[in-house]
Amino acid sequence: MKKIIIAIDGYSSCGKSTFAKKIAAERGYIFIDTGAMYRAVTLYALRRGWIGSDGKADTDSLVRHLDEIRIAFRYNPQREASDLYLNGENVEQEIRTIEVSGHVSAVSQIPQVRERLVKLQQEMGREKGIVMDGRDIGTVVFPEAELKIFMTADPEVRAMRRFRELSEKGEKVSLQEITENICKRDNADVTRKISPLRKAPDALVLDNSRMSVAEQMMWVREKIDKLVR
Ligand code: C5P
Repeated sequence: MKKIIIAIDGYSSCGKSTFAKKIAAERGYIFIDTGAMYRAVTLYALRRGWIGSDGKADTDSLVRHLDEIRIAFRYNPQREASDLYLNGENVEQEIRTIEVSGHVSAVSQIPQVRERLVKLQQEMGREKGIVMDGRDIGTVVFPEAELKIFMTADPEVRAMRRFRELSEKGEKVSLQEITENICKRDNADVTRKISPLRKAPDALVLDNSRMSVAEQMMWVREKIDKLVR
C-alpha cells in the first residue's frame, strides 16, 4: 500500500495531537508532535534564564546555543505514544506546563529556531508514512503532503478540553488562565511574520467542536483510503 504524508495544522488545543496519534496507530505510521519540539526549546531557554520576567526571549543567547539542543522522540509503551527527550532527558511532562505554554510563542517566532526544527521535521518525514501536527506543516514543512487537514474548534470548547487535561494531571490552573493562554497563542501564531498559522489552500477543514473522536476518525479514514489505494 502506498505511504503518504498527513499534515495536520490548526489552532491551539483543538485535539490535533490526539487525532494525529490515533491515525498513526491505525495506519502503522510515525506520529510527530511538532509543538512538543518548540516547547522543548522553550523549556531549555527557560532553564538557562534566557526568557526574562517581561516574557521576552534573549534571542542572541538562544541562537548562539541552538546547536547544544538535541531533540528526540522515544516510544513509551505505557502511554502508547512517544515521549520527548531534551538532551537525553525525558521532559514530556515538563513541556506541557502552563509556564512553557506561556512562553512558547516568543520562542517559536525566532527564525533560526524555526529553520532548525523545520529541517529536523523534514528529515523525519523523508520516508513518508508519517502524521505530523503543528501550525506550518501543510504550508512550510511538507507543502507536497498528500493529505492536509486544518483543524479548528470553538475557543470555549478548546479551553474546557485543555482545562480537564491539565486538572487530571494535577496542575492547579484556572479555566480563565487557560482561555487567555489559548487566545494569546492563537493570536501570536496567526500574526507572526515567519510561517504564521494559515490554512493551506488545498487543506480540508475539520471543525471538531461537536464531533467525537470516533466521528473524526470515520471522517479521515475515508479520505486516507482514497489516497493510499
Ligand atoms: O501544538 P502546541 O500547542 O503544543 O504548540 C505549542 C506552540 O508551538 C504553538 O503555540 C506555536 O507557537 C508553536 N508551534 C509552531 N509551529 C509548529 C508547532 C507549534 O510555531 N509547527
